[in-house]
Amino acid sequence: MKITEVVCQILRIPNITAKTASSQDSVLVRVRTDDGLEGVGEADSSPEVVKAIVDAPFSHNIACGLRQLLVGVNPLDHERLWQTMYRRTMYFGRTAVGITAMAAVDMALWDLKGKAFGQPIHRLLGGKQHDRIRGYASILFGRDGKATADIARRWVGEGYTAVKFGWEPMGTSEAVDIDLVRGARDGLGDATLLIDAGCVYDARTALRRAHAFAEYRPEWFEEPLREDDIDGYVWLRDRSPVPIAAGEGECGRESFRPFIDRRALDVYQVDLSRCGFTDAAYIRARVEEAGGRLCNHCYTSPLTAAASLHWLSTCRDAFLFEDCVEDSPLRHELTVEKVQSVGGWIEVPDRPGLGVTLDEGFVKKYLVAESG
Ligand SMILES: [Mg+2]
Repeated sequence: MKITEVVCQILRIPNITAKTASSQDSVLVRVRTDDGLEGVGEADSSPEVVKAIVDAPFSHNIACGLRQLLVGVNPLDHERLWQTMYRRTMYFGRTAVGITAMAAVDMALWDLKGKAFGQPIHRLLGGKQHDRIRGYASILFGRDGKATADIARRWVGEGYTAVKFGWEPMGTSEAVDIDLVRGARDGLGDATLLIDAGCVYDARTALRRAHAFAEYRPEWFEEPLREDDIDGYVWLRDRSPVPIAAGEGECGRESFRPFIDRRALDVYQVDLSRCGFTDAAYIRARVEEAGGRLCNHCYTSPLTAAASLHWLSTCRDAFLFEDCVEDSPLRHELTVEKVQSVGGWIEVPDRPGLGVTLDEGFVKKYLVAESG
């Protein structure tokens, strides 16, 4: 089997708004073979930047676009291809979007492998330990505590037993921040509360907030610090009365390495559209060895949600699944199969590969750029 085509597509909904939400556009990588199979992957980044990394022509032996490295080779050799892509993109890759673009290819290669062998990806990863996982509704804060309480009531009413609120306006002031968390707890009743600060504090302020939030019983306090402040996370985790979660911005194993080695977090949040399956499997093994907990991060489409489910189901202690409930057609309609929680639980797909099928009519409707 050989790769014949690597198609890159950018989808974007009209009238996107200025908010911290990835579900307004998407970049797909579709790897096709001479056997007529297709694997599909997705990256969560700036779509045009990812597309440039796929499309770039040869410039140097270690500065080469991904398509050129892939056409003509056997897609089942995904571990070897990961290393080829890493080595031959070193001048612009190694971190951040360089790895994110590779993650989209890697997701597509695992989807292809699953289809070639007629097996779901969780089986290729070694076997699922969970048939379903408790989903938490992931959404942004309201403008104040009262609006946040209304949002909380909506999602509890939809059957969720856990809800996460994130980002703006958290970080405005101590009074605003506490009002948001109090509102969230009021609206949730006894349901599980998760707080995502959105990288707004220094470590000392974050510790003060963790003490203030503790009485509202959050299950975790997510990304209180900027993503590169590893020393801050180590310091905070040693002192915080609330477990500390982070990792969604980390791209691949090298990026997670210092967090795991230094036991910087309680919960490691892995985004499959930034790590791919190859590195997510490695991160899973290292975090389990270090005694940390694992969760997915996903705020994009049902493709990455399905990928996250395959991976998370193989994590021994998986306890929650991030189910983005943003009201965007990209989150809910990109695939024929719905990948959403029902009654607060989300099923792990069992069909070959990712187990989801692109809705080609939807792709055509929102397509803004294509190469291949
Ligand atoms: Mg987050």
